[in-house]
Amino acid sequence: MLTENSIQILKARYLLKREDGKILETPRELFQRVAQHVTIIETKNQSQWADTFFNAMANLEFLPNSPTLMNAGLENGQLSACFVLPVEDGLSSIFETLKNAALIHQSGGGTGYNFSKLRPKGDQVSASGGVSSGPIAFLKLYDSATEHVKQGGRRRGANMGILNVDHPDIREFIYAKSKEGSLENFNISVGITDDFMQAVKDNADWNLVNPRTKKVQKTIRAVQLWDAIVKSAWHTGDPGIIFLDTINRDNPTPGQGRIESTNPCGEVPLLDYESCNLGSLNLMKVLKKEDGKPIVDWAKLESLISVAIRFLDNVISTNHYVLPQIKKRSTNNRKIGLGVMGWAELLISLGIPYDSDDAVRLGEQLMEFIKVKSYEASRALAKERGTFASWEQSIHYPHAPIRNATCNSIAPTGTISVIAGTSYSIEPLYALAFKRVGILENKTQMELNSIFVSEMKLLGLWNEKTKAKVLETGSVQHIKYIPVDVKRLFKTSMEIPWKYHLLHQKAFQKHTDNAVSKTINLPKTVSLKDVSKIYKMAWEYGLKGITIYRDGSKERQVLQKCSFE
Ligand code: ADP
Repeated sequence: MLTENSIQILKARYLLKREDGKILETPRELFQRVAQHVTIIETKNQSQWADTFFNAMANLEFLPNSPTLMNAGLENGQLSACFVLPVEDGLSSIFETLKNAALIHQSGGGTGYNFSKLRPKGDQVSASGGVSSGPIAFLKLYDSATEHVKQGGRRRGANMGILNVDHPDIREFIYAKSKEGSLENFNISVGITDDFMQAVKDNADWNLVNPRTKKVQKTIRAVQLWDAIVKSAWHTGDPGIIFLDTINRDNPTPGQGRIESTNPCGEVPLLDYESCNLGSLNLMKVLKKEDGKPIVDWAKLESLISVAIRFLDNVISTNHYVLPQIKKRSTNNRKIGLGVMGWAELLISLGIPYDSDDAVRLGEQLMEFIKVKSYEASRALAKERGTFASWEQSIHYPHAPIRNATCNSIAPTGTISVIAGTSYSIEPLYALAFKRVGILENKTQMELNSIFVSEMKLLGLWNEKTKAKVLETGSVQHIKYIPVDVKRLFKTSMEIPWKYHLLHQKAFQKHTDNAVSKTINLPKTVSLKDVSKIYKMAWEYGLKGITIYRDGSKERQVLQKCSFE
């Protein structure tokens, strides 16, 4: 069942080890450890629930986020992947949060922060009579601290840094990652409001406001900033954008404050001191055959959703929280994020090209189904266990009682999709062949996508010549004798028109109460004008954030690197 890569990754990072490195459990025992831990709070049918959860994981139908796999059942096991921490304008808050972030990173989680409350560079500091270093300096400080906190030797922490578009230091922020190697442990995003988008559209003025004095420090054209964002993203992939007003329109608990940040990869907007647990369904496991043709097995999907929602809700109750503030908020709101992996491979199995309207339609239908069934499952849990504590102050009130303030997120599944042996999240295949540096022996090996190889064999097109050509470029688009419809089905990420990348993100976002983490992969030749169009369309489509990557512009982002380092 497990692929060679999956076994390698489990051995390197997930299976329990003794201090001298000796591995103490098998993958089966890992899944048992996790299933048993999250069922300790079940009051009835505990061992049946443990079996159900075990089977879902061992069959690779559903996997929780990495910290749950790594830490469940351990003493003080921290199980969440996503956190947001506050950064207030004062040294004590800055260093308090830095310490808390280190504790979170050490336990396997990732943190997001909005730095916009910090006074700008050069602003006065009354305590010392000196001048402030500004948000970018503190971002660098956080970055270098992250560098030195290894997560039990397994992976380095990941961060999201946000600065709002009206902060006086926004220009410096936009270019903060332009030098190769800078802020390597951060994804950065500009926090953008509807007002700003309107000002760009109208070619209007835009005020940069000092957050300390609330006074306008400078007025510029909104378009100037927009162009800088687009140019920097074209060059380096950074910064991404998050749309703060769109996020807050969906804030389930507005009474607890405005959401100012997301977790590192953007799929969970969170309040300060809030955490979220993620889990993903493997869509390759919800296929069945009807009259010899593969179709989606909706009944199986429905039953997996209800198992997964219960599992994730149990994670909240069986989690060890590194800070009391996080415990309070996380157990009050009980946010979870159930998503998917293997979307591209499901489409290939169904014979539907990623860049087709049929694929986008199915994506929307599938996510709507997942949302509806997730909410049904969370409502059933509310009947059994009660609603989340702040339900009556949430946007869910007075609808039917519900257990979780949010239910769905589309995470990148950077590692768990490798464990499950399928394609990442809702991303198209990145390449049909790729080089992978072995995690254990550090040997480089060439690998072919297994779905591609079996499909080619089925078509009688698999031979040494094809293999050599595919290994060379990772693509079939240049091979003359490959039929057009096969080429269409096996287009890779950069070969798919950006319009379809965006349409898939839109289709999934439409039925996701949290957010969708997706990278819009672009060919090297894409124009600045297109990047600008993509960012504008993202706003119009109601996306909560957007990230692009232009082929060859820079090494892949934090996440992809984490997965294979
Ligand atoms: P995984 O596949 O390992 O469960 P994902 O790639 O789906 O994780 O990422 C989900 C979230 O987990 C990210 O948005 C981030 O919050 C957190 N995360 C991912 N990689 C890291 C890392 N190296 N360190 C800390 N947190 C991480």
